[in-house]
Amino acid sequence: MRRVWRQDSTRSLALLESGTAGGLCRTRRSAEPLAGAQPLNRRTALLGFGAAALAGPALGSAPRLAVNGRYQQGGFAFGVTSPRAELWLDGEAIGQASARGCFVIGFDRDAGPGADLRIATGEGSTSHRFEVARGDFDIQRIDGLPQDQVSPEDPALLKLIKVQSERKQAGLASRVDGDGFRSGFILPVRATRISGRFGGQRILNGEAKRPHYGADLAAPRGARIVAPAAGTVCFAETGLHFEGGLVMIDHGQGLVSMYLHQSRVAVRAGQELGQGDLIGEVGATGRATGPHLCWRMKWRGRNLDPTLMVGIAAAAP
Ligand SMILES: [Zn+2]
Repeated sequence: MRRVWRQDSTRSLALLESGTAGGLCRTRRSAEPLAGAQPLNRRTALLGFGAAALAGPALGSAPRLAVNGRYQQGGFAFGVTSPRAELWLDGEAIGQASARGCFVIGFDRDAGPGADLRIATGEGSTSHRFEVARGDFDIQRIDGLPQDQVSPEDPALLKLIKVQSERKQAGLASRVDGDGFRSGFILPVRATRISGRFGGQRILNGEAKRPHYGADLAAPRGARIVAPAAGTVCFAETGLHFEGGLVMIDHGQGLVSMYLHQSRVAVRAGQELGQGDLIGEVGATGRATGPHLCWRMKWRGRNLDPTLMVGIAAAAP
């Protein structure tokens, strides 16, 4: 059976499982196929789709609030409220909604079972509690890696990694005033399958490492990578030790997506992108076993599963 991976819109993600070669971020397929090799639409069907228009307990004249998304570890909520309303999540100030009233909340890979959102304008306030479901994460084990890709020790290499890390942090700190996410995301590449799922526990050369914070999308070297939603390029470099060619896009409201291991980077920092614009080509640069796109997403430091965002648009402002 051949299912075509659709790059255009819609919430019916279909994955082709015809076994085209594809690499992982230094994990590899073991005897047990990774659960992520399953069609994505099965998982989304099981998890359902959260959407609600809420009144909420109010003081004064409560701002309107509509939320939708996937309320689970690694998931998210899109929200619409009053333009420039002030927002807090679990007591942390997270800035203001966009000029249209749009905002995003992200639930980290290790988020707790609940998250409390508070919204206030000069007129009044409202609040909403999200029940956050547990994620379903696998174990990703690989042995026999070059040690400088697992626990580098060479001082010159460590220094290089530190310098590169500081530049990446500056990219991740980008906070464009926009809401390019509100259209929802398409897939950034015509992938053949997921070769490494988001959130898997990494065991490299027997050492427990950080979880895999990306979704590895298998695709041939040179395949086009496009912006899955509108945004501003906030980082674009080649030659990074772990990531190789790396592009980051700031979609507004603290949401930054990342595209790793590119063989070619076709954009520059500061460039504005519309959904579907070319950003580069698939490669195997950095810590990669073969050509694939490692697609990552962060919201204010939280690690999200970008595949959960595909096909879900924010409510109309
Ligand atoms: Zn990856």
